[in-house]
Amino acid sequence: MKNSQRMPALFIGHGSPMNALQNNQCTQSWQRLGARLPRPRAILAVSAHWTTRGTAVTAMAAPPTIHDFGGFPQALFDIEYPAAGDPVLAARVRELLAPLPVQLDQSWGLDHGSWSVLYKMYPAADVPVLQLSIDLTQDAAFHLDLGRRLALLREEGMLILGSGNLVHNLRAVVWDGAAPAFDWALRFNRTMRDCLLADDRAQLLAAMTDGPDARLAVPTTEHFLPLLYALGSKQPDDTVTFFNDVVELGSIGMLSAGFGLPAGLALA
Ligand code: ZN
Repeated sequence: MKNSQRMPALFIGHGSPMNALQNNQCTQSWQRLGARLPRPRAILAVSAHWTTRGTAVTAMAAPPTIHDFGGFPQALFDIEYPAAGDPVLAARVRELLAPLPVQLDQSWGLDHGSWSVLYKMYPAADVPVLQLSIDLTQDAAFHLDLGRRLALLREEGMLILGSGNLVHNLRAVVWDGAAPAFDWALRFNRTMRDCLLADDRAQLLAAMTDGPDARLAVPTTEHFLPLLYALGSKQPDDTVTFFNDVVELGSIGMLSAGFGLPAGLALA
């Protein structure tokens, strides 16, 4: 497959699961992406909400929709996202990551980190979706390296989708839709944009953990690490495009990035 057909890689800030039911600036960007990107053969999603010991990939033909949250309206629990899986592609993922042992998983499915976004991007659920788990026993460099090793999937028509939030501090959340972003959240976002534009991965990994802003923005790593899978797959000639650069509820950053998006793709 020629380079011109390389699929982009995405990191999307998913925020509240309620985005699946809402229509706002962020969800409209998701809809535009789904409508305007070249159609992927399948999607490999790395969601903040599937953390494991060891690495696993969903390998069932029909992954169930997982409603992994509480305290939300029944309408959110009623959503089903019946995208197919793809056991052959799951084996391909395992092959690309060898000799790392990758479990072919039959017990997970699609959690809300994946389906709340894909429900907007591909509402017909007609693109197969696999999830790759995040091994929380490993350091950040490990996850970046897995992204690098998965880059070939993009040449084979797969969309790599990291789904998390770069700024994700639930304890600092202000339950007011009009709450301004905390200064530390804005500063951390700016640092992330600078590192991504410069493709300075060492600086980005350092900024993820070093200093008071990082401690507030990334109190736990699971929502940050999905970025590293998309970034790891970035090729030197991939452009970087930011979208949804807003901070919700004071401390949930929606900043999203596309690597290698087609030129002229308008997300606004
Ligand atoms: Zn989340």
